[in-house]
Amino acid sequence: MADSRAELAERFGDRLKKDEPLAKHVNFRIGGPADAYLEAKTTQDAVDAIRIARSRNIPWVIIGGGSNVLIADAGFRGLVIQTAFRGWRQDGNRVTADAGVLSAFLARATVDAGLTGFEWAIGLPGTIGGAVRGNAGCFGGEMKDSVETVRIYDPGSDAERLMTWAECKFKYRDSIIKHMNPAPVVLDVTLTLGPGDKKVGKSRLDEIIRARKEKQPQGASSAGCMFKNVTLNGKEDLWKLRQETDIPSEFMEAKSIPAGWLIDQADLKGTKIGDAEVSDKHGNFCLNRGAATADQVMQLVSLIKTKIRNRFGVQLEEEVQLIGFDS
Ligand SMILES: Cc1cc2nc3c(=O)[nH]c(=O)nc-3n(C[C@H](O)[C@H](O)[C@H](O)COP(=O)(O)OP(=O)(O)OC[C@H]3O[C@@H](n4cnc5c(N)ncnc54)[C@H](O)[C@@H]3O)c2cc1C
Repeated sequence: MADSRAELAERFGDRLKKDEPLAKHVNFRIGGPADAYLEAKTTQDAVDAIRIARSRNIPWVIIGGGSNVLIADAGFRGLVIQTAFRGWRQDGNRVTADAGVLSAFLARATVDAGLTGFEWAIGLPGTIGGAVRGNAGCFGGEMKDSVETVRIYDPGSDAERLMTWAECKFKYRDSIIKHMNPAPVVLDVTLTLGPGDKKVGKSRLDEIIRARKEKQPQGASSAGCMFKNVTLNGKEDLWKLRQETDIPSEFMEAKSIPAGWLIDQADLKGTKIGDAEVSDKHGNFCLNRGAATADQVMQLVSLIKTKIRNRFGVQLEEEVQLIGFDS
């Protein structure tokens, strides 16, 4: 894409990085170079970059904090745009945050602003844009609980649009935004929260930070949970799993079997391929022990899926988003 980068370079100057290693922009610390990389400081930067990319047939992808992505070893043949627009404002119980605002920052800021309802996101890596697209959640909260509207740029119609909560069609780690083609860009998100007590909110933040430290591996690079938990709709055949182990009643009540529990039951914690390793603290975390490659992670993913399917008859599905594997 050497020639086609010229127009992007003309618009963004030195800010457009060529052959930029992506590993340094994502949590996993894995991934080859992007032909072109732009840190979008404003929503207009992102929209302009996409317009140019589309007019030149340059493949493009948007990332936020890079905390839920695995980038291919060969990198991405096209333009990677990372959101760095980070303004936010409060209007009573409503908060509107640009897509590049870090979720954890917003969790603390809303408590400081005397609001409640977003404390759960205090330990959530990444941006609010990435969180809304995948309906991120933890500690009893999910994006869908507080989103009122989402402003997107739709490259198909080359226009901005405000999506209502109902239009977002939030489901477990899913929203319609994930399935729209061409992929839209979340520009900002408006949350409706409740009036809160700052002191209570702060102690809830501390409690969640403590719980995360206990449950999740600290310090190692990862993309968080590798697989989605298995949602039960009453129609699946669990006899094979039941033959092997007792399914805790709380999972049946919650209609969800944690992927980490299945990985643990299959004795896969600590399994290693190269420098990619299943965490022995949390089975659903795949860690980069230093020099892991995307290829090693994918081999590990494939091994886990095969073992869980063969042994328990359950099909795991990746939660992590793959970038560059089809270019
Ligand atoms: C240690 C660790 C712990 C984690 N714990 C949790 C947890 O408890 N719960 C949970 O749900 N997740 C968890 N995650 C996963 C991750 O933090 C969330 O999914 C997060 O919301 C992703 O945001 P991001 O900005 O990093 O998205 P990215 O990883 O940058 O991108 C994820 C996807 O969203 C798309 N995207 C990003 N920004 C935009 C945008 N503005 N518009 C359109 N598309 C966009 C990307 O193209 C990509 O497909 C964890 C991750 C790590 C590393």
